[in-house]
Amino acid sequence: MAISERDYSAAKDLLKDRIILVTGAGDGIGKAVSKALAAHGATVVLLGKTIRKLEGVYDEILAAGHPKPAIYPMDLMGARYKDHEDLVGALDKEYGRLDGLLHNAGVLGERAPIEHHEVHIWQQVLQVNLTAPFMLTRACLELLYKSPDASVVFTSSGVARKPRAYWGAYSVSKAGIENLAAMLADETAFRKTLRVNSLNPGPVRTEMRRVAFPAEDREQLATPERILGTYLYLLGPDSTGVTGQQFDAQ
Ligand code: NDP
Repeated sequence: MAISERDYSAAKDLLKDRIILVTGAGDGIGKAVSKALAAHGATVVLLGKTIRKLEGVYDEILAAGHPKPAIYPMDLMGARYKDHEDLVGALDKEYGRLDGLLHNAGVLGERAPIEHHEVHIWQQVLQVNLTAPFMLTRACLELLYKSPDASVVFTSSGVARKPRAYWGAYSVSKAGIENLAAMLADETAFRKTLRVNSLNPGPVRTEMRRVAFPAEDREQLATPERILGTYLYLLGPDSTGVTGQQFDAQ
C-alpha cells in the first residue's frame, strides 16, 4: 500500500541548501511550516504583515540552530506589482534563485450573504488571497526557473470546490487559486524543473479558524504542527515531477 503524503516522513536534511519563500509566515500554519522547513535545512524567507510576529519566528529558527532565515515585511493588501518586483530583486541579489514558494497568507473577510456582502471587503479579500499570489508568482517565475528543482504551492480550502452559503469572497478567492495553480501547472508542464500544486490544509487550530467557527471545539482540531507532512513533501525533492494536482493535508 502506498504511503500517503500526509504521513510523509521527511529526512532531516531534506531541504538542505534550498531557498523557500513563505507568505503569512508570522502566524498559524505559515509559522509552523516555516519552522519545519528550516528544521529540515531550508533557508526560509519569512514574508508577512506584522514585523513583530516575523521577528518571533526568526528568533525561534535561529535559537534552534537552523539556517539563518530572512525577514521580508510586506502588506499584500496594499502591495503593487513594483513591490513584488523589488522583493524578487532582493532575493536575486542575495540568493540568485528560488527553490520554493508557498502562498500561505490569507484573510477570511466577512461571512455574509452576497446580498449584503461589503464591496470593499470583497475587493480586499480578492486582493490578498488571489491577486497578490498572482503578482508574486508572476514576479518570481524567472527566479524559480533558475532553480534546478523548484516547487510552487498555493493554499486552497474546502470551500474552493464546494461553495457554501455566506462564504463570499473567501470561497471565490480559493476557487480562483485552484484555477490559477492548475493553469500555471499546465503552462509550465514542459519545464521539468518546476512544479505547481495546490494544497488544502483542512480544519486547523488557528486564529482564522477561530473567527470562522467560533462555536467549534478547538481541542478536536489539528494543530498546525500536525499537518506538516504534505507541505514538506511538496516543497522537497520527493515530489519532483508532480505537478497540476490538488492535495489535502488531512
Ligand atoms: P492565520 O490567520 O492564522 O494566519 C494568516 C497569515 O496570513 C498571518 O501570518 C497573517 O499575517 C498573514 N496575512 C494576512 N493578511 C496579510 C497581508 N495583507 N499581507 C501579508 N500577510 C498577511 O490563518 P491560517 O494559518 O489558518 O491560514 C493559512 C492559510 O491556510 C490561509 O490561506 C487560509 O485561507 C488557509 N486555510 C486555513 C484553514 C484553517 O482551518 N486554519 C482551512 C483551510 C484553508 P498577520 O498575522 O501579520 O496579519
